[in-house]
Amino acid sequence: MESIELRGCLEDELIQICQELGLKRFRATQLFQWVQQKAVRTWAEMKNIGDRDRQTMCSRLRFDVLEKVREQRSQDGTRKYLFRLFDGEMIECVLMDYARTSSRDRHTVCVSTQVGCAVGCAFCATGVDGLRRNLSVGEIVGQVLDITHYVRQEDPDFQVTNLVFMGMGEPLLNYDQVLQAIQLLNHGQGLNIGMRRMTISTCGVVPKIIQLAKDNPQVGLAVSLHAAKDEVRNDLIPMNRRYPLMQLMEACHVYTQITHRRITFEVALTTENAKKEEAEALARLLKGQFGHVNLIPINPVAGTGMERPNPELMRRFAQELEDAGISVSLREERGGDIDAACGQLRRQWEGELL
Ligand code: SAH
Ligand code: SF4
Repeated sequence: MESIELRGCLEDELIQICQELGLKRFRATQLFQWVQQKAVRTWAEMKNIGDRDRQTMCSRLRFDVLEKVREQRSQDGTRKYLFRLFDGEMIECVLMDYARTSSRDRHTVCVSTQVGCAVGCAFCATGVDGLRRNLSVGEIVGQVLDITHYVRQEDPDFQVTNLVFMGMGEPLLNYDQVLQAIQLLNHGQGLNIGMRRMTISTCGVVPKIIQLAKDNPQVGLAVSLHAAKDEVRNDLIPMNRRYPLMQLMEACHVYTQITHRRITFEVALTTENAKKEEAEALARLLKGQFGHVNLIPINPVAGTGMERPNPELMRRFAQELEDAGISVSLREERGGDIDAACGQLRRQWEGELL
């Protein structure tokens, strides 16, 4: 019989499997809690489930965990993990806002949703080699579970409080898996992360933005905008040729009408685009949107030729937007000393192997 990935199962699915295996219903709840709440990584840690029942469960359920290949710690507390999947593929995952001495209790994990990415944006290290494969539900949830597991070895009370789907891959092109992962991570008997504390980032897959508004109006949306004119955005984000800015802005309107949630528009600044005219074009494009602009310095990826502007230029750009009535923030960079931008660690690792 086909085995099912344990970490990808909802509680109801485990109840059904336990029933089929002739096990008591409460075993399913115990199992769910060990996996999704206590974040154990082996069957042997499930202390209140007897050997024989564990053996029976093993026959149907596959307990795949991620292998930690590398962990890097930044001076600001950011931790970056390189994980190997069961088939040898590698993904990256970042924990932000983590400092043991800090009194702030926000701990955000940046989750990957695919190995590689088919979109191929000009500035992004993930898309360089195209899409290798989608991640399964268990592999998406597994990143948050394994990070929780590792940090709890030093800090037993550690809880992830926020999630951003901004790691490797385009979440809306692995839609069903991402939505089920969100349901698991939100589960009251699991990590119990609030829907409103999760944000999906997309390069602009228009039909899926509208579907998301209907399927899960609670979860947050970030749109990677980066340019306000089609001719520029076409070259940066090839998805723009399929869904140009007019369609994207219309989808954003529909999204906010349905969800009443403010959209975050991500804009990475380079020495090329951090100019007054670009800020004006952005302000025109976003007029009337219920949104907020997040400005970040581009993370220079080898071979792209893009460079980050100096902080003064960035501040001026933010001021232009603000003067035009657009809500804006300048995001400080996290983990700059450990290459914490998506795809960079994997490429560095592969480079070392060549
Ligand atoms: N595919 C989704 C989510 C993953 S990328 C998306 O594109 O939104 C997460 C974010 O990182 C996006 O906003 C993306 O535009 C940005 N990004 C990718 N490479 C970057 C780089 N080199 N510098 C700055 N931001 C980058
Ligand atoms: Fe894919 Fe997002 Fe990278 Fe573009 S920025 S290649 S959509 S992961």
